[in-house]
Amino acid sequence: MSERYDVAVVGLGAMGSATAWHLARRGQRVIGFDRFHPPHMFGSTHGDSRGIREAYYEDPSYVPFVRRAFDLWDELSETIGKPLFRRTGALTLGVGDCSMVQGVLASAREHDIAVDLLDASELKRRYPAVLATDDLVGVLEHRGGMIDIETAINGQLDQAAKHGADLHFDEPVERWLPQDMGDVESPIVINTANGRYEADRMVVTAGAWNAGLLGKLNLPLTVTRQVMFWFEPKRNPEQFAAGALPFWMWERGPQDFAYGFPDVGKGFKLGHHQPLDEVEPSGYNRELTEGDEANMREWLERTFPDVGGELLRAETCLYTHTPDAHFLIDIHPKRPNIVLASPCSGHGFKFAPAIGEALADLSMYRKTEHDLRLFRVDRFVKPLSEQSEQPAQTAAGD
Ligand SMILES: Cc1cc2nc3c(=O)[nH]c(=O)nc-3n(C[C@H](O)[C@H](O)[C@H](O)COP(=O)(O)OP(=O)(O)OC[C@H]3O[C@@H](n4cnc5c(N)ncnc54)[C@H](O)[C@@H]3O)c2cc1C
Repeated sequence: MSERYDVAVVGLGAMGSATAWHLARRGQRVIGFDRFHPPHMFGSTHGDSRGIREAYYEDPSYVPFVRRAFDLWDELSETIGKPLFRRTGALTLGVGDCSMVQGVLASAREHDIAVDLLDASELKRRYPAVLATDDLVGVLEHRGGMIDIETAINGQLDQAAKHGADLHFDEPVERWLPQDMGDVESPIVINTANGRYEADRMVVTAGAWNAGLLGKLNLPLTVTRQVMFWFEPKRNPEQFAAGALPFWMWERGPQDFAYGFPDVGKGFKLGHHQPLDEVEPSGYNRELTEGDEANMREWLERTFPDVGGELLRAETCLYTHTPDAHFLIDIHPKRPNIVLASPCSGHGFKFAPAIGEALADLSMYRKTEHDLRLFRVDRFVKPLSEQSEQPAQTAAGD
């Protein structure tokens, strides 16, 4: 007979490794699965760095959540004895009335976050690397910076394992089913290529593969191919170094938004934020195309003209989008012993340890003190009481 676990975590990337860490340190018997061995380059969590910021332009209600994440990142860093953060500051650039600049200012006002509002001449003085046209403004928040993602994922996984989580890598979940289809709280049977496992509860954090694993919910998630670039500055490299330039985001128009990081010895890293091509997560072009590079170089000419030297490295990565770009973090609408998270839309990483904490709460207590109202699944999927029950089927997902 197979061993029975309290919780199975499906997907051990940014969110799953955080969830396994929180559950295991609370004494839960945890089994975790990943189709690869995180950190890996096939999902959404690779490429050295992710930005973190506090004055959240997407909605001020994210601020308490990201503040908890800041604390948990510090705690993890102290526990593993490795720095996770570079506090470079976070600079938002755009014309004054653009949605990002206005959103940052609104969050800063509501949550009393100190920011510097910089006009074009001050931008030119502080950041000569930036091609500042007269209408450009910048908002600098001091607490932001960049997180070393590979160290962070390894840290979360190591802590989960240290607290007893049984982590299975290179073992994709092929199918899961409730033991008793008629019982909404029935334990879950999980089938992988290697075996059959049972758990009282399940957490689904499979990133770009979430929609497939939760097939019957018909979640409106789309996956896009994104590209990250590392360029060598062709002039004035000192203007691109950490200390000279913060982590930055730049909105030049509704579909013209990029972000990037100062050079910490590996090149000036940047990427476009807007959705690119919609793809299948297991089969898409992971090679750089001429068009990818030409678009990015053209963007750089209009923004950081000194940077477009040799292309040192480029990698593709996946965004999983919800229609409103806010996360999905909730209890499964039909099965209260399953919780799910799709916190990407290109901005989820910074929250990972706080999301892991919220998922552990939902899985153990079905409630959490985190405010997850913006992330509810019923904005896309009708609650059980309003659904006609579907006959049980045997696909992966319910
Ligand atoms: C280019 C790029 C730039 C970004 N920049 C930022 C940024 O600056 N700041 C920020 O906060 N966020 C940023 N993000 C978003 C952030 O990286 C994501 O929100 C986050 O990494 C998503 O984590 P995840 O755990 O949902 O997905 P992943 O980390 O991809 O984890 C999902 C895991 O599930 C596994 N899996 C899938 N199917 C199965 C299965 N059947 N069985 C077992 N395992 C399975 C996968 O192998 C994978 O390891 C960026 C994303 C990209 C792509």
